[in-house]
Amino acid sequence: MRSNVRISAPLVRSMLYAQRRSFSASVGRQANYGFIGLGQMGYNMARNLQAKLPSSDTIRIYDINSESTKRFADETKALSSGAAVEIASSVREAAEDSETTITVLPEPTHVTNVFGQILKPPLSEASVANPDRLFIDCSTIDPTTSKEVANAVHTTQQGRFVDAPMSGGVVGATAGTLTFMLGSPDNMVSRVEPLLMMMGKKVIHCGTQGAGLSAKLANNYLLAINNIATAEAMNLGMKWGLDPKVLGNLINISTGKCWPSEINNPVEGVVEGSPASRDYTGGFGIALMKKDLGLAIKAAAEAGARLELSDKARQVYEEAEQREDCKGRDFSVVYRYISSAESK
Ligand code: NAD
Repeated sequence: MRSNVRISAPLVRSMLYAQRRSFSASVGRQANYGFIGLGQMGYNMARNLQAKLPSSDTIRIYDINSESTKRFADETKALSSGAAVEIASSVREAAEDSETTITVLPEPTHVTNVFGQILKPPLSEASVANPDRLFIDCSTIDPTTSKEVANAVHTTQQGRFVDAPMSGGVVGATAGTLTFMLGSPDNMVSRVEPLLMMMGKKVIHCGTQGAGLSAKLANNYLLAINNIATAEAMNLGMKWGLDPKVLGNLINISTGKCWPSEINNPVEGVVEGSPASRDYTGGFGIALMKKDLGLAIKAAAEAGARLELSDKARQVYEEAEQREDCKGRDFSVVYRYISSAESK
């Protein structure tokens, strides 16, 4: 059985790379990948990528949480297929010799910070020529920050940067069924798409760099509002004496139907297996919804787009998240906040 984990050893690796590069020219397959940010999403995405890459390739992983990279290395150690795995000792080491580096980080500041470390001092071209470098950022951040980072990559001529935020949650990341919203020039799509398809099922090219994030934030703005509206409508109907299942079924064959009413109904027992039916555990955390709503509001202000419902929606998520019985739970928990906070 092949052990496909290698722990960083710079000298041995640089010799290995020189060898691999000379092979690459003839075989055309061996490649190095950097993967930075192995949290709830990134860990599972990297697992799928590692499993689907050929064994001649290497995936070099980095996370400030070393437990996560160690677990990844341990879990892939015994596998006899997929790319070799190396634990990088820094962000920089994960990216330095990689043709493709994927980042899956929490917030805009993390992405700016990580790319600051990647780009300064300039990357060595000993193993990879800068025009061949590709950076794919799958983090949900605001389009302005993403464009600033892309600009830093492009103006220093250290590679190409595209945004590819995703939807599908941890379940989709684990199953490899994510949908990616790609912001990229047309001529990069054929290179990026096959890589994303190793971690997901759909890639929607939304436009030039930054467009993937604009699409993601527009969708999540709608989701934030629909979720609150569904919680209010369900609560209203139940106050009038309607059975929640009857009301839920009616909405879902009527004009009010939306993802929160049909798939993620916030009332216990309406949709079997939904977070509401297990005390709002799992699912899409209320903190992430609050974060995405904040990013959408910021991006809307920058674009001069009027949002009538945003401030109230933000207040609902902020107040709900402060409650002990809502904190850390699926965002449909706003139903609990609304139904228990109303005037008697
Ligand atoms: P997470 O917090 O679980 O993971 C982020 C990882 O980044 C952590 O392991 C953290 O240690 C690491 N990290 C932070 N700073 C770092 C640095 N400087 N260098 C290296 N690693 C660093 O977050 P997540 O749930 O995996 O989400 C990642 C991104 O995907 C977020 O932008 C989120 O909004 C988005 N997203 C999440 C979901 C979801 O359901 N969780 C769904 C769609 C999109």
